[in-house]
Amino acid sequence: MTATPAGLSEAKAALLQKYLRGEMSPGATTAERIPRRPPEEHAPLSFAQERQWFLEQWQPGTAAYNIPLALRLVGALQAEALERALNAVVARHEVLRTTFAMTDRQLTQVIASTLVISLPVTDLDDLPTTERETVAQQLMAVEVRQPFDLTRGPLLRACLLRLAETEHVLLLTIHHSVADGWSLDVLLRELAACYDAERTGRPAMLPELPIQYADHAVWQRERLRGDVAEEHLAYWRRQLAGAPAVLELPTDRPHPSAPIARGAAQPVAFSRAESTALKELSQREGVTLFMTLLAAFQVLLGRYSGQEEIVVGAPMAGRTRPEMEGLIGLFANTLALRADLSGDPSFRVFLGRVRRVTLDALAHQELPFEQLVADLQPARDPSRNPLFQVMFVLQNTPHPTGFGGLTMERLAVHTDTARFELTLSLEETAAGLEGTIEYSTDLFNAATIARMVEHFHVLLRGIVADPECRLSALPLLTDVERHQVLVEWNAAGADFSCDRLIPERFAEQVARTPDAIAVSFEGEALTYAALNAKANRLAHYLQERGAGPDVLIGLCMERSLEMVVGILGILKAGGAYVPLDPTYPKELLGFIVADTQLPIMLTQARLIGALPEYEGALVCIDRDWPAIALADDANPASDAEPHNLAYIIYTSGSTGNPKGVMVSHANVVRLFDATDEWFHFDCHDTWTLFHSFAFDFSVWELWGALLYGGRLIVVPFLVSRSPEAFLDLLHTERVTVLNQTPSAFYQLIAMEERATVTRPLALRVVIFGGEALDPQRLRPWFARHGDQSPRLMNMYGITETTVHVTYHPLTTADLDGGSRSPIGRAIPDLRLYILDEHRQPAPIGVPGELYVGGAGVARGYLNRPDLTAARFLPDPFSATPGARLYKTGDQARYQADGTIEYLGRL
Ligand code: AMP
Ligand code: MG
Repeated sequence: MTATPAGLSEAKAALLQKYLRGEMSPGATTAERIPRRPPEEHAPLSFAQERQWFLEQWQPGTAAYNIPLALRLVGALQAEALERALNAVVARHEVLRTTFAMTDRQLTQVIASTLVISLPVTDLDDLPTTERETVAQQLMAVEVRQPFDLTRGPLLRACLLRLAETEHVLLLTIHHSVADGWSLDVLLRELAACYDAERTGRPAMLPELPIQYADHAVWQRERLRGDVAEEHLAYWRRQLAGAPAVLELPTDRPHPSAPIARGAAQPVAFSRAESTALKELSQREGVTLFMTLLAAFQVLLGRYSGQEEIVVGAPMAGRTRPEMEGLIGLFANTLALRADLSGDPSFRVFLGRVRRVTLDALAHQELPFEQLVADLQPARDPSRNPLFQVMFVLQNTPHPTGFGGLTMERLAVHTDTARFELTLSLEETAAGLEGTIEYSTDLFNAATIARMVEHFHVLLRGIVADPECRLSALPLLTDVERHQVLVEWNAAGADFSCDRLIPERFAEQVARTPDAIAVSFEGEALTYAALNAKANRLAHYLQERGAGPDVLIGLCMERSLEMVVGILGILKAGGAYVPLDPTYPKELLGFIVADTQLPIMLTQARLIGALPEYEGALVCIDRDWPAIALADDANPASDAEPHNLAYIIYTSGSTGNPKGVMVSHANVVRLFDATDEWFHFDCHDTWTLFHSFAFDFSVWELWGALLYGGRLIVVPFLVSRSPEAFLDLLHTERVTVLNQTPSAFYQLIAMEERATVTRPLALRVVIFGGEALDPQRLRPWFARHGDQSPRLMNMYGITETTVHVTYHPLTTADLDGGSRSPIGRAIPDLRLYILDEHRQPAPIGVPGELYVGGAGVARGYLNRPDLTAARFLPDPFSATPGARLYKTGDQARYQADGTIEYLGRL
């Protein structure tokens, strides 16, 4: 950082740069030096060390706080000289000879007056050259994962791998309680100097250390006893008041109850051009590169989580006094940087917010994180880090490069642990910004993190291209991913439109299987021919009373054969039925009658008293049957066409009045054709009409049986309410196709578990719909029946898009998969989009709102043009004129393989 950031005075800029290097703390005067502690006195632990101690008690033997430093050294290396050099450094720094003890409930630093570290050498040069590198990596991986014993030490280990005569890898592993990132550079510089001295026989010329780490610990405790801590605390309390306790990132797996432990890292790199562009942007905006990268990272996290407030941790060197600079030890302190993304500002405006928050935080950086946590006492949740779960690290002081005449290269070694859910670490190198993203493998798959890295690249490019862009409009998806979610995963766009109406398809079936049983109810049954004849008579009768295309006919009936005759008769007459379930509240029925202005209502004599006020023509299918029976029994002609309405079903919706969804014959007929290859329903199937005819799952049950020659069992109301009776019916009727809401099915599972005798079921397929399925609850079912016979299918559906939208065959793999509620893929003539609030495609894995397009989308809401316009939108991604999308109000996300996971209502 050389140039003066625009918008800052010289003095302020200098101050800012000092802050960012952790070189100063406000309020500190250079005159006030850290004293050496009295000899003989037991030193307390620094606050950060104390936290390390407690973390170790909590997760004993974790490698999460092991800091590896691996160096490839090329040239003639003298191993003994290196070992002596290492011990010279250990002799200089008390902290490298320190362990911790709990005596009299008091934690103290125990400093050994001498300590010898050995440098074992492992020869790999008799291995084949091709294997040396791999073996070295394996050895290092094992070594960095060895636990430290904080009470026994040493807390520094070293080993040397000899790959060839002139090629070595030096691996140092230090426990975080005695070192931090900065310390590694100090250690490295001193080690190089001492090695040079040992090798050449000249003195190392290292300056004497003004204080030791323990002096700092004593001083820190003293200093933070009174007003200093209070003043900082006051700031942090204010700053973090009401901040969200957790950042809810979309994970691949739910949070385990234990703390984050296993981890991995992936590289992140920006080209020199990209890095330069980011630096130039920072200069133009009067901010540091740290602020720009942090802001961009927070935007990314905001887009992933949907949260407007995000707290990210960032470590600061914490070396606020000159005498600390040359020390090894844990000085780093983590600041909680809270981002306010609210109001969808431009990136520039948001960057201004980040700048202010960062500067204020730096001004109050002296308060140790541990004290902040102790003061704020965030709710204890062992699976989440307190205050923040994501870290951002920008290392902006250059690492030492030389090593006693040898070529030195830093190697990446990973402890296979993660301290946080995500840690983005970047540093400036000659090639541009480089670093890693470390992540919890309990939560994330590698592919998810790889996509996140890509999104970060796209986002940063978007920011550089247009800092005035609103946060929500900044790009995230790569072109490849955009194409995948918009086009590839909506591949088919298949056309199953058909020029026939539901009753025409039924009539074709009657011709094929006239004598087969079409429908039965409590011991009575109708063949296809008999059902057809009855429905035809009713249709002629209704046509005489005005039934025709788009004429709405109320249907208020109890479960019975007559109800099926009624539905079919209305459709054959060319009209559309409006179900009025007599078990529904009278108020609701009254609303529907008033809303539809039904000219005709079909009912049963015993229900007349239960009907809401009604002034149109009333037809009682039972009482009036003698008259209806006089009508013709031939298939009637009607003027109805596929686009005319088949039914209007009212959905309650969570707010406002119920609304009538207008569904056409075309909507329904194509549903069966488009899903036929998945199910192959036929005349051997037995179905239940389990659901109320006022719930559109019934549409599927009715025609899934009657358009294919199957047998439909109308389930009596009381049987539908008794899992025991229903299970019995499934057995005795040898039902093959069962449709259930998950909650109803869970009851069946429980009932079956309890049964003393297992009675065989003839089911070949069970279809779930209507509400979210929790695959875990199918465990006992799979244990008894396996996952092949019957097949279990989850179908997500909405009245407004005609019964079903997606399809997902469930297997035992879904029990272990990460998806909470897999709903699979779209029916081939539908299109699905998962969009963010600005109707842009959400990235894979990131929640968005589900939109449905294609041939299932209903005409709209009866009498509600406003609501229809708000929920049925022009499809911006379709080339087809007039194509519409239904906005579902449901939250979902793509899994990496293109299947969709349902997440709940928005
Ligand atoms: P409705 O239009 O009244 O049938 O309700 C449709 C709503 O039910 C959808 O918007 C979803 O919220 C929910 N739903 C339906 N089927 C499923 C399913 N298979 N998984 C999760 N939710 C579902
Ligand atoms: Mg609905």
